[in-house]
Amino acid sequence: MQREHDTNAVLMARRHAAVARGVGQAHPIFVARGANAEVWDVEGRRYIDFAGGIAVLNTGHCHPEVIAAVRAQLDAYTHTCFQVLAYEPYVELAERLNALAPGAFAKKSLFLSTGAEAVENAVKIARAFTRRPGVIAFTGGYHGRTMMTLGLTGKVAPYKTGFGPFPGETFHALFPNALHGVSIDDALHSVETIFKNDIEPERVAAFIIEPVQGEGGFHVAPNEFIARLKTLAERYGILLIADEVQTGAGRTGTWFASEQWPVAPDLITTAKSMAGGFPISGVVGRADVMDAPGPGGLGGTYAGSPIGCAAALAVLKVFDDEQLLQRSRALGERLAAGLRRIATRVPEVRDVRGLGAMVAIELFEGGDLSKPAAELTRNVVAEAARRGLILLSCGTHGNVIRVLVPLTAEDALVDEGLQVLADSFAALR
Ligand code: PMP
Repeated sequence: MQREHDTNAVLMARRHAAVARGVGQAHPIFVARGANAEVWDVEGRRYIDFAGGIAVLNTGHCHPEVIAAVRAQLDAYTHTCFQVLAYEPYVELAERLNALAPGAFAKKSLFLSTGAEAVENAVKIARAFTRRPGVIAFTGGYHGRTMMTLGLTGKVAPYKTGFGPFPGETFHALFPNALHGVSIDDALHSVETIFKNDIEPERVAAFIIEPVQGEGGFHVAPNEFIARLKTLAERYGILLIADEVQTGAGRTGTWFASEQWPVAPDLITTAKSMAGGFPISGVVGRADVMDAPGPGGLGGTYAGSPIGCAAALAVLKVFDDEQLLQRSRALGERLAAGLRRIATRVPEVRDVRGLGAMVAIELFEGGDLSKPAAELTRNVVAEAARRGLILLSCGTHGNVIRVLVPLTAEDALVDEGLQVLADSFAALR
C-alpha cells in the first residue's frame, strides 16, 4: 500500500529490500499517473515520456478509447481461457491482423501474452511446419528472456549471463551494419558459414530477424539484405520470421515494419504497442504454416486474454480515427530533424537513424566510431530525467539513445522533449 508521504527515495529503498536485484530499473522514479505522453511521479513531478514503457505506448498512456474498451470488457467477462470458452474479440483481432499482415497469401493468427511467448510460438510453428530443428538469428538481436528466446538473443550481458545452457540448434549470423563495418555481403556470407560449420541448410527451420533491431540499437535491416536472405531461404525451404514485437503496431510508419520489405515474411511476431499497455502478443502468418501444429499444440491459460483483445481492437480503431500511421511518419521526420540539429552541435552524436517514428542517435567518444560512448549515454539519460524527460538507451555497446514517444504526443510536447535532450547535452559539456 502506497502511503501519502512516500517519496521516490523511500520507495526505492523498499524496492531494493523486497524485489530481486536482477529486475533492472532505468530510472529511480515511482510513477503515480500517466496521460498520453506525460507521467507524474509520487512526488508530483511531471515528466515527458520518450520511453513509452519500452515501445508499448504508441497510443499513449491511458488512451481514453482503450480504457473505455477495457472497462466495457471488465464488466462483461474477464477470463474464460479461449481454449475452454471462446470469445468473439479474439476472432475479430485475428481477422484484423490477418488483413493487415503483408503477403498475398491466406493468413491465420494466434494470441499469447508476452513478446517472448510470441517468439517461442513462432519457433514451435516453424519447426512443426518444416519438421526441422535449426533457427538462425542475428548478432545484436533481442528476442526475449525465456530460455529459447535467450538462446536466440544475440547479446550476452546482461541477458544471458549465468542462465545457460539454452536450447540447442540456434545460431547467430551477422546483422548487416554499415556503420559498424558489417556489409550486406558479410552478413550473407556469415549465413553460408553457419551452413558450412554448424548445420546443413536442410535442417534449418527458420531465420528470425527484427526489421529494426530494438534493444540492439535501432539498426534497420536493409531491404536488399532482406530480399537476398529470402532468396536464400527459398532455395533451402527455410522460413522467414519477422520479430515485430518492438517495430509493430505502427511504430515505423506502417502497421507492420515488414510491410516495407520487398518480400513478405512467413511469420510475424507482435506484442507491446498492439494493445496500448495491456499484455497481449501474437503470431500472424501464412495459414498453411500456422496450421502445422495439431489441435492442442498451441495456447495458454491467459493467451489472448479478452482484456488484451478488447484493448488491441481499440488501438486499431484509434489508429484509424487519429490516422496514426501518417502521424508516425510525420513524427519520425520531426524527431530525426530535431536530433540532427542536436548532432550538428554535439560531435559525439555520429548517427541519427531509424524507420518512421522509431528513431535513435548513436554516441561515440570524440566522434570516433571505434569508441562507443556508453558513459556519456548513461549521463545524458540521467541528466534528461533530472530535467523532466524519460529516455531509454540501447545498443550492444549501450551507446544509443532511442525515442519511443507516443505517436499521439502533440508536436509542442515532442519539441519540448527534444529541447530537454539538447539542454542535457549542453549541461554535460
Ligand atoms: N522481441 C523483441 C524484438 C523485443 O523488443 C522484445 C522486448 N523488448 C521481445 C521480443 C520480448 O518481449 P517481452 O518482453 O514482452 O517478452
